[in-house]
Order: sequence, then C-alpha cells, then structure tokens
Amino acid sequence: MTMADGRADVAVIGGGLAGITAAVELADAGFSVTVLEARAWLGGATCSFVRRGLTIDNGQHVFLHGSVAYRDLLARLGSTSAGSIREQPELTILSPQGELTLRRSGLPAPLHLVRALAGYRYLTRRERLAAAAAGLLLQFTEPAVGRADDDASLGAWLDRRGQDDNAREMLWDLLAVTLTGLPANLADLGLAAAAIRAAILAGRDTGDIGVPAVPLSQLHARPAAELLARLGATVMLGARAAGVRRTGRGEFEIRLEHSVAAAQSTSPAAPRTDSTADRDVPEMPGLITADAVVMAVPAWEAAVIAPAELAEQARQWSLLQPSPVVSLHVIYADRVTRLPHAAVAGSPVRWIADKTGPAGLHAGQYLAAAVPAADNYVDLPASRLRAELLPELERLFPIAAGTEVQDFFITRERRAVVRHVPGSQQLRANQPAALPGLAVAGAWTATGLPDTMESAVRSGRTAARKVLADLSGAELSGAGPSPAAARTAAARTAAARTAAARTAAARTGGPGTAELATAGSGTAGSGTAGSGTAGSGTAGSGTAGSGAVWPGTGGVGPSPQAAPDDAARTAATGMAKAI
Ligand SMILES: Cc1cc2nc3c(=O)[nH]c(=O)nc-3n(C[C@H](O)[C@H](O)[C@H](O)COP(=O)(O)OP(=O)(O)OC[C@H]3O[C@@H](n4cnc5c(N)ncnc54)[C@H](O)[C@@H]3O)c2cc1C
Repeated sequence: MTMADGRADVAVIGGGLAGITAAVELADAGFSVTVLEARAWLGGATCSFVRRGLTIDNGQHVFLHGSVAYRDLLARLGSTSAGSIREQPELTILSPQGELTLRRSGLPAPLHLVRALAGYRYLTRRERLAAAAAGLLLQFTEPAVGRADDDASLGAWLDRRGQDDNAREMLWDLLAVTLTGLPANLADLGLAAAAIRAAILAGRDTGDIGVPAVPLSQLHARPAAELLARLGATVMLGARAAGVRRTGRGEFEIRLEHSVAAAQSTSPAAPRTDSTADRDVPEMPGLITADAVVMAVPAWEAAVIAPAELAEQARQWSLLQPSPVVSLHVIYADRVTRLPHAAVAGSPVRWIADKTGPAGLHAGQYLAAAVPAADNYVDLPASRLRAELLPELERLFPIAAGTEVQDFFITRERRAVVRHVPGSQQLRANQPAALPGLAVAGAWTATGLPDTMESAVRSGRTAARKVLADLSGAELSGAGPSPAAARTAAARTAAARTAAARTAAARTGGPGTAELATAGSGTAGSGTAGSGTAGSGTAGSGTAGSGAVWPGTGGVGPSPQAAPDDAARTAATGMAKAI
C-alpha cells in the first residue's frame, strides 16, 4: 500500500495474535498487506506497559505444550530463543493447605497422570479415584453444541459423576478456569471436555506449561513488528476501522478513524513519551481500499464493523459475553517465595508468577497474581481489592505477611476473554463462505478451542487461507483477469523475485536477509532501530524493511506501552487500566 492512495491487496484489521498471524502468512505469500490497529501497539490482549521503570504485562499468559500453532508463531517471530520462555513438565499447586508439585511420568497418556493424581493430596483417596473415573469418561463426552441450559455445563456433568464440593473446588475449578477461563459450573461442557482432553489426555507432554520469561511486548509485539516490516507489510497504528463495505467491483472499503495519540507512538511496542507527544503525524487516509480483508478484532467490534452482508452473523457475534480478568501486581521489599510460577487451588487467585526478572526489578520481589472470571472483583476499587486479595497471598506465602509492600496496583481487563457458557459455541464466527475476500479471525471465532493464544493463532491461519483461496479463485475465474487477480499475480512475482534475490545473496555470501531488508527501507522513517527504551531497556535491533510502520516514526522498537498513556490504552476494547 502507498500512503497516497490508501490501497492494499489485503487489509488486516486488528494487530493482536490473530491479526499478526494472518498478516505474516499473507505477506509470506507475497501480498501487499496493511495492518490497521486501533491502539498504539501490536499484540492486542497480550501487551506490556511501563510503570515506574518496570515493564508490566497486562496479565499472565501461560500456554500448554500442545499449543502447536502458537509455538509455531513464536518460532516464526524468533521468540523461542533461550531465555524467552520457560517450559516445565511439573506444576506447583498452592492452596491455603500447603504446596504440592505435580510431575507427569514418562508413561503414555493417560497413564502419565496416574502418579500425579495419586499424589494430589488436596483430595481424599476416594475423591481421587472418582476424579480419575470422571476424567476417563470425559474422553467420550460429546459437545453439547446448541444447548444453552445449565445442565450443559461442566459443573452439572461433574455433579452427575459424583464429584463432591471439595473435588470441584480443589481440582475441577482449577482445571476449568485455567483451560476455559470459567469455573466448572459456568463452563460449556463440550468446550471444557475438548480442552481438558487436548490439554492433559491427548499426550504425555501436551499439558506441560510454558511461561514467558520476558515481557509480552518483547515476546510478541516487537518481533512481530520487525518481521512484518521485513516482509514488506505496512502497520498503521492508531487506525481504527469504523466500518467495512464491499463495493460493486468486489473490492472492500474500510473507513478509518485515527487516534493521533496512538499514531504518535514511537513504534508498535513503544511508550508514548514527552519527546514523542508533539511528533508530527502525516495525514492518513480516511479510507483504505483492499482486494481482501481479514477482520481480526474482538467479537463485539467485529459485529460493529462487519459489512452489511454479514448483518445476521454479526448479530450473533454481538451476543457473546465477555469475562474479565483482574491482576494484582505486588512489589515486596524482600523475596517472599522461591517459586517462579504456581497455580492456586481453593482461592480466587488462580495463577501467581514471579515477574522480578522480566520486569527489570533489581531488589525485592515482584509477584503478579491473576484472578480470572473476575465478575465479582472487576468493579471494586483498588483499596478493596488490596484488602480482600493481598491476604490471599499472605495465606499462600506466610512470610509475605511480615514483608513490606513497596507497591501494589491492579490491572483490569474487562473483556479479557469470551465467556464460554453453554449456548455460546453456536454464536462463534465461521468463515463467511458467501463473501469472497472477507475472512474473520480472533480467538473468539469457531476454532473449537477456548479463548486462548492458540485459538487466536489458529484462527489467523484459517483466515489467511480463506483469503488465499478466495484471491486464487479470482485469478482462476474465466471472466478475464480482475484488478485483484492482476495485483495478486504481480505480488507473487515480486515475492518470488525477493526470495530469489535472498537465495542468491546467501549463496554468494552477500548481504543476508536482514541486510537486504535494511537496504529496502520504505516509507517508515529511515529504517532505524526503535528509539523506545523503557522497561526492557534494550533498543530495538530491528530495521525496517520495505514495509512501513505508519506514521513513519522511525521503524520498530522494543518497548512496551507507557502506563501514563491511559487514554490510548483504554481505547477500543476495554484495555487494562493501571491504577
Ligand atoms: C489478562 C489476560 C490474561 C490471559 N491469559 C491467557 C493465558 O494465560 N493463556 C492464553 O492462551 N490466553 C490468555 N488470554 C487470552 C489471549 O490473550 C487472547 O485470547 C488472545 O491474545 C486474543 O488474540 P486476538 O488476536 O484474537 O484478539 P486481540 O488480542 O483482542 O486483538 C484484537 C486487536 O484488534 C484491535 N482492534 C479492535 N477493534 C479495532 C478496530 N475497529 N480497528 C482496528 N483495530 C481494532 C485491538 O486493539 C486489538 O489489538 C488472556 C487474556 C487476557 C486479557
């Protein structure tokens, strides 16, 4: 796309993991891709900001080893290098009763869990046997798609399988919340059963936990911006799509609303600072025309911007309900636990992570604690949350009671994930087959998975493949080459030429991919490293390729969003609000 004409082969609306995945796949295929992101950074629901010199993630993001698509994306982004993520075959589970560590064995599934369940002393022996029997039965539980009654919840099913209150609280709720974002009494049975099967019954290592060891902005936003720039894609920040319309020529028009504050961001992962606040922002088009569009935005936003042809589906999407996550961030003067990471049973706090190192704290300990399905907490003032939830940490780590709290703050994600209650599955978006060139992506779409990073990445892939198939179909149609088909063919030729040049350069020992990309600095500044330095403290090493980071403020950089920029951060989709 050029700045002047506001045209792209493919416009990807939304720069979360779904949009990033779709954009990378389509740019890889040789299309000119423009990513339109309402906020000042990429990464969507996985992001970081800076507060008092520390890099804070908006929420903990763990993943399972079975999240193959997400792990592929990390590899494509170059985020799997040593030290970026920690994968562990054991899991510590804390409770007010103590601490235990579950270790899977090397036996094939489901036998790999026998030892772990046998040692799960939060349940009685009888409860453990009953839980094992229920777990095996879950293998054969069919999704109850279409049923919206409470009887179609995991909780109702567990009741029928004789799981008592203690087993529900100390085992099943922990599993359900972790895998679906909801406790068992609310979670859709079919979805929960599929998630539990995939996580812990499908293979002996599928349930191993992966934990980011660097800030999310460093894991996702920065490498994504760098990769997209190298692939020649354009990233427009502060560009909110207000509506998508299909024209009579079969193209799509996307109406844009711009946020100057977000567009002034130094980079897709950088804080807005005083030095960037007065930066001149080049005039941006109010309209983008594209041969194809991927709508990779949350359900409620997709319902608002969808073209008229999708009115009925959009109405369904708008009926999906959000589920909030509240996170506590506590800086202690001294170390209160040696654990890097733990799950919690029997408490509203479900996950605790030691973020001292990733945040850049050099003295004391920074613990982040997540309260998912936080409907009862999300509207409470910080003082109430402190009074109610800090004692939870003290129950888990008694030494914390006598340790000075140097800082305490809350982040709230009101629309963290979709509330996958019974009846929600049929509201999720399928690809609109009748609308060639338009695809829908997002963790909330019909992936068969809960609202996770894995679901987001898979949906991005599916959407990219629909667009590829639709545009190829346009090329192959007998009605003579359409403008879209001609551009598609040209894009592919250009991509093939670039690939050949890279191969030749590699053979002759000439400039490698990175140098080629540097040489091809396009409209984004001059392809210099990002200037953001907050938090992680390392300047971006990426150089802009032929792509652009709109509005050309100097390429891509590493740093997360600054905490004070609340207005931009809370825009659009109910972002975390640091208080
Ligand atoms: C606090 C928290 C904790 C979580 N924990 C986990 C976890 O442990 N494990 C896990 O797997 N998942 C977790 N999740 C869920 C996971 O982060 C999401 O499912 C996933 O990141 C969603 O990606 P997405 O691309 O579908 O959507 P999003 O990340 O929401 O991306 C959508 C993007 O579209 C942009 N946008 C919206 N409207 C417009 C518009 N009109 N025009 C342009 N841009 C627009 C938004 O600004 C956003 O950047 C968590 C989520 C939260 C919030």
